Amino acid sequence: MKAEQLHRDEIVRFGKLLHQTGLVAATDGNLSVRLENGNILCTPTLMSKGLMEPDDLVIVDPRGNRVSGSREVSSELAMHLFIYGRRPDVGAVVHAHPPTATGYAAAGIALDRALCSEIIVTLGSVPLANYETPGTPELAEALAPLLNEHDAILMANHGVVTCGADLLTAYMNMETVEHFAKIALVTHLLGKQQPLSDQHVDKLREIRLKYHNHVVASASGKD
Ligand SMILES: [Zn+2]
Repeated sequence: MKAEQLHRDEIVRFGKLLHQTGLVAATDGNLSVRLENGNILCTPTLMSKGLMEPDDLVIVDPRGNRVSGSREVSSELAMHLFIYGRRPDVGAVVHAHPPTATGYAAAGIALDRALCSEIIVTLGSVPLANYETPGTPELAEALAPLLNEHDAILMANHGVVTCGADLLTAYMNMETVEHFAKIALVTHLLGKQQPLSDQHVDKLREIRLKYHNHVVASASGKD
């Protein structure tokens, strides 16, 4: 388990990457990590994710009460806390507004067609959650039916949330969603989609299951 300072450094590093790769603009987005004691280390509100220092981060308890840090927490923290509460396997959450994937979310189109083999192995598919006002408990509730099966979810007319066992995984899931959205957009521009057959999808799902079991076993020290 990493020391708190390492988690702070990592959030700053991935916040910069999120900004540099264009997955957020201005003060958009937020990142968080679950600490060993169950508290959540998260990014503050109203700050560019490309300009944060480790001391700008805030620690809250699992109910969202501030434990340390002088800045205010993000209004979208409730969504992060909801995910940690529902998914004991999740160690980090990333929320961003990647332009292409958010375009799909604003068009009401899920990224759930079997267009790319890699996506089926890594994310399975990326569903679309109903629209709810950001920062409200209703937004978190809209994710509930999708959370057990998915590590990346489009939020209608808003953006994307991803999670993972650690921050690197949650961040890479966000990059993967946006990359897949760009590929899907190209198929729309070409006017043709040629999804994989059910048989091919089944084979890829088997690989996904093996990969997932391997990751779980490694994380619990069985491998
Ligand atoms: Zn947002």
